Amino acid sequence: MTLSTTTAIAINEQIFYQQQDNEIQLFEYAFSHQLPLLIKGPTGCGKTRFVAYMAEKLGRPLYTVACHDDLTAADLVGRHLIGPKGTYWQDGPLTRAVREGGICYLDEIVEARKDTTVVLHPLADDRRILPIERTGEELAAAQGFMLVVSYNPGYQNILKGMKASTRQRFVALRLGYPNPQLEIQILMTECQIDQDLAGKLIELAGSLRRLDCDLDEVASTRLLIYAARMISSGMSPLAACRSCLAEPLSDDLSTVEALMDVARLYF
Ligand code: ADP
Repeated sequence: MTLSTTTAIAINEQIFYQQQDNEIQLFEYAFSHQLPLLIKGPTGCGKTRFVAYMAEKLGRPLYTVACHDDLTAADLVGRHLIGPKGTYWQDGPLTRAVREGGICYLDEIVEARKDTTVVLHPLADDRRILPIERTGEELAAAQGFMLVVSYNPGYQNILKGMKASTRQRFVALRLGYPNPQLEIQILMTECQIDQDLAGKLIELAGSLRRLDCDLDEVASTRLLIYAARMISSGMSPLAACRSCLAEPLSDDLSTVEALMDVARLYF
């Protein structure tokens, strides 16, 4: 049995999210019209945080599933389990969200096998139903149910692209890394660091992101937050840059040193 990572987030947590453009309004419109949403964006740019914030704002329970290539339809929908009193049915995260009128967020949907994503089709169009083959149920989604999926277009390849028939069911939103002013605010709020340090880290991030050295990924907001936290707890800035910004991005020693040469211009 493959277990996916699922999290239900309590409604009354205070979640900080700095809007990049008009994504909050777009989400609210999609929610009010019961339309599913596809969020594209590079890793660590705030997709998961955004969905958690919106679930809190709209007062809906949130079920998050980190998709991977072993994810089966049963991981999403549910399965029969054996207990002390015999077999019983246990809802998967998708089914729970459908029943409760919650938000089901499938992170990195392109990682899931195509036969798994097909289960989403009748939920993602105006039928809004989830047929559960194994129990013979056909569940109609409760009022507040919303399906949200995300992927990183940078990782896409021909095998892993999303089927056109799946993606055409979604309203799509593109997120990137926040602009420097917003990213400074995010660092200051998330890490309780001063503007001077936040500003330096963001300038460094800008230079690293522009650097042409064949990286699969560039420095994300998430990595900047790690570096800021390490520095604010006493680590030397260059050591933090090495462990949070250079080493996570490359295994190649000369590339790591090239990234550190840039860091040395700032710290
Ligand atoms: P993704 O899901 O795109 O990989 P996350 O949502 O996990 O990225 O973002 C990584 C971290 O960056 C978050 O935990 C949060 O600390 C921070 N972050 C990124 N964007 C924002 C934002 N717009 N507002 C607040 N925090 C953000």
